Amino acid sequence: MSIKIGIPRALLFHKYSTLWITFFEELGANVIVSEETNKRILNEGTNNSVDEACIPVKLFHGHVLSLKDKVDYIFIPRIVGLHKGEYICPKFSGLPEMIKYSLKDLPKIIDTEINFIKSIEKLNDTVQSIGRYVTNDNKKIMYAWEKAYENYKMDNLRLNEKFLDINLSNNKKIMVMGHPYNLYDRYMNMSAIDKIKSKGLNVVTPEMIDSVTINENSKKYKGKIFWAFARKLIGTTMYLIEKNNIDGVIYISSFGCGIDSVVGETVERIIRRESNIPYMLLTLDEHSGEAGVNTRLEAFIDMIKWREKDENNISAHG
Ligand code: SF4
Repeated sequence: MSIKIGIPRALLFHKYSTLWITFFEELGANVIVSEETNKRILNEGTNNSVDEACIPVKLFHGHVLSLKDKVDYIFIPRIVGLHKGEYICPKFSGLPEMIKYSLKDLPKIIDTEINFIKSIEKLNDTVQSIGRYVTNDNKKIMYAWEKAYENYKMDNLRLNEKFLDINLSNNKKIMVMGHPYNLYDRYMNMSAIDKIKSKGLNVVTPEMIDSVTINENSKKYKGKIFWAFARKLIGTTMYLIEKNNIDGVIYISSFGCGIDSVVGETVERIIRRESNIPYMLLTLDEHSGEAGVNTRLEAFIDMIKWREKDENNISAHG
């Protein structure tokens, strides 16, 4: 019988799902992804994690619990850095310990370290040590990785093409920015993206812009960029300003996120200083009410439509 590997549908799953699922499936594992976020998962996560954790990390606890009795292993890599010279939020490197400390009687955890801060040279070793949880066949592991990476690249290409299509459309365009788990977990953001689309606007996210464009544009920022998330979000911001074909920016943030308090503020400052694109920060936590989120989204969308009609696109923020 094949090994069952559980992957929590939380945090960086929202960016790397194709990569991880393809990799383990190509190795012959039976991959079980936790169900979509719901009230029970959120409550279990908040009740079984430390108070100081941000909401995406609490939610991760809930997803791990929902896999607990269904799998042989749970994939919780210790992510230290994904790109040379850039750190990721420290919560990712402490995640396996946080989970082991807070949740009891879990299956074995695949907690291989992923650390490419100094160089990408360790990639093969990292891939091999994760793959060995399923097989000792080195060739099979490398083949599975190549297939997984190919599928991941195809996913990204499809997103890039979607962006080109949106650019050709005459509809208004809103950039929704933030960490992938804040953008793509519909329960947590109360389907913000679907709600914007239902008003006849197009939605663009940073994942739709190709990485070469983001990297090139991030270099235009004069300050130093330490964080992996920051390069993507600041690069996206510089690109938007240069192209000037976005009608509004909504930044979705989690309450208590230290990285967002710096990166979100930087993004807002650049947009307000260098453009007149309307900007709104939407900070969410486990107590956010849907009515309040709807009201803010509707007011922002109305303002964008009204602004074109009556104000000839004058600055929306003074
Ligand atoms: S970046 Fe922010 S939201 Fe994400 S894990 Fe770190 S503190 Fe939490």
